[in-house]
Amino acid sequence: MHDEPGRTMDPTPSEKERAHAVVIAGGGPTGLMLAGELALARVDVAVVERRQTQDLAGARAGGLHARTLEVLDQRGIVERFVARGQVAQPAGFGPVHFDISDFPTRHNYGLGLWQDVTERLLADWVGELGVPFYRGREVTGFAQDDDGVDVALSDGGSLRAAYLVGCDGGRSVVRKAAGIDFPGWDASVSYLIAITQMTGEPAFGIRRDQKGTYGMGKLEDGSVRVVLREDEVADRTEPTLDDLRRVLTALYGTDFGLRGATWLSRFTDMTRQAASYRKGRVLLAGDAAHVHSPMGGQGLNLGVQEAVNLGWKLAQVVKGASPASLLDTYHAERHPVAARALRKTMAQTALSRGDERMEAVRESIAELLHMDEPRKRYAAMMTGLDVHYDLGAGHPLLGRRMPDLDVVTADGPRRVFSFLHEARPVLLNLGEPGAFDVTAWSTRVRRVDARHTGAWELPVLGAVAAPAAVLIRPDGHVAWVEDGAPGAGARLPEALANWLGAPSAA
Ligand SMILES: Cc1cc2nc3c(=O)[nH]c(=O)nc-3n(C[C@H](O)[C@H](O)[C@H](O)COP(=O)(O)OP(=O)(O)OC[C@H]3O[C@@H](n4cnc5c(N)ncnc54)[C@H](O)[C@@H]3O)c2cc1C
Repeated sequence: MHDEPGRTMDPTPSEKERAHAVVIAGGGPTGLMLAGELALARVDVAVVERRQTQDLAGARAGGLHARTLEVLDQRGIVERFVARGQVAQPAGFGPVHFDISDFPTRHNYGLGLWQDVTERLLADWVGELGVPFYRGREVTGFAQDDDGVDVALSDGGSLRAAYLVGCDGGRSVVRKAAGIDFPGWDASVSYLIAITQMTGEPAFGIRRDQKGTYGMGKLEDGSVRVVLREDEVADRTEPTLDDLRRVLTALYGTDFGLRGATWLSRFTDMTRQAASYRKGRVLLAGDAAHVHSPMGGQGLNLGVQEAVNLGWKLAQVVKGASPASLLDTYHAERHPVAARALRKTMAQTALSRGDERMEAVRESIAELLHMDEPRKRYAAMMTGLDVHYDLGAGHPLLGRRMPDLDVVTADGPRRVFSFLHEARPVLLNLGEPGAFDVTAWSTRVRRVDARHTGAWELPVLGAVAAPAAVLIRPDGHVAWVEDGAPGAGARLPEALANWLGAPSAA
């Protein structure tokens, strides 16, 4: 067990400590990423986390996809993750694994990294940023008024915040207390997942039967990670070692001398999505906003990317720079991305079932996805590299992720992502130095004059025309492009006002 990073607050916080600009319920991957984003923007943010330590996340998510690695790179912390993980090509769809080594990104791969390590690294980063944690306590409810939210805690205390974000997982108390609908589909299958110790020889590998896939794999310390399909969809009670033994025996005919489990949990393919990601001063992100089968490894990646979409917007609203309506763009942009991911996980669950007819479907899907164009489209979708927010018509970059170009500035060669380390917007001017006047937003946007001579290439789309300037949001998405089209330059003040708030008086 580690010392917990961040300032751990006393069980009974003093009056002064009870108020924060933003309170995050839940310090899983989504809550941690959001806390880091808000702390970078110098917002007073605190995390309430049920777990006493970060070490209890277990081995749920097995890795990070390319766009998540890019997002971490934008904050200058990706090396920490790469150093602990295994570079691989984990993205896939149904029977097909994609090789994205030809994709135009520095992170043209995925990273095998168990969720407990990912969380630990995020928590260390958030700790360095000085975020306070209320650990060993739960958010039990809240009441919001025109000015803020009173957040009730399980120790009988409460916190006051301008905004509350529910990052408290699939059974989110915040979502339920907000009365936000959670429509979708009930579970069709349930699984036990565990890290076990066995005296017998395990049957490593993946197997498939009529109802789905299951399997076991060896972990570094010699433990065995098992993911076992249950015969019936189980209820939501916590599983026991006896349940595990029973299911092992049913599937394999033996319990492999099961001695114990250091971690044991259950998951299903229940697929639901919050009807709204915001209700007044309360927002949802991560599993609190959507649950689905883990097939395709999307959940943690979606949560981290939602946090990066929401963080800077919430910071601007809290600081009074932007109106609260900016927060509605969070739902507008991210709800469709998760809705699409949910459909794909449902498709993959169906594809994992194992009769001969489904085998024929899998063969057909594999044939299609081995063709170059479908491979590129699906791989870009599963890795998050194709996300395109609808910011209107225009240059293909508009609403898409900014590529991490090599540029040359007056201070020497730089990578574009290095300009985003502080999570501030950037006006990247690749034309005449000093060409754009952003004086009225000078405290909110960083202007960088630079040169770039290479090609501009986007995943799936390929080469695009080189723009003379781009406005890059803190989440790395392009909000305005000077592409030489009539009136493009004149639209910059509109874009700045839209995304960064009204201009300051001269
Ligand atoms: C078997 C399996 C494999 C998976 N594989 C992948 C994968 O490869 N890739 C991927 O991207 N995703 C994967 N996932 C999904 C991933 O684990 C989740 O999507 C991810 O954990 C969601 O992060 P989160 O922070 O939104 O929620 P959670 O991880 O659920 O975190 C919520 C946090 O809130 C805390 N909490 C809950 N209620 C309260 C409360 N009331 N007050 C205070 N704190 C509270 C919890 O203790 C927890 O720390 C997998 C999931 C499973 C089950």
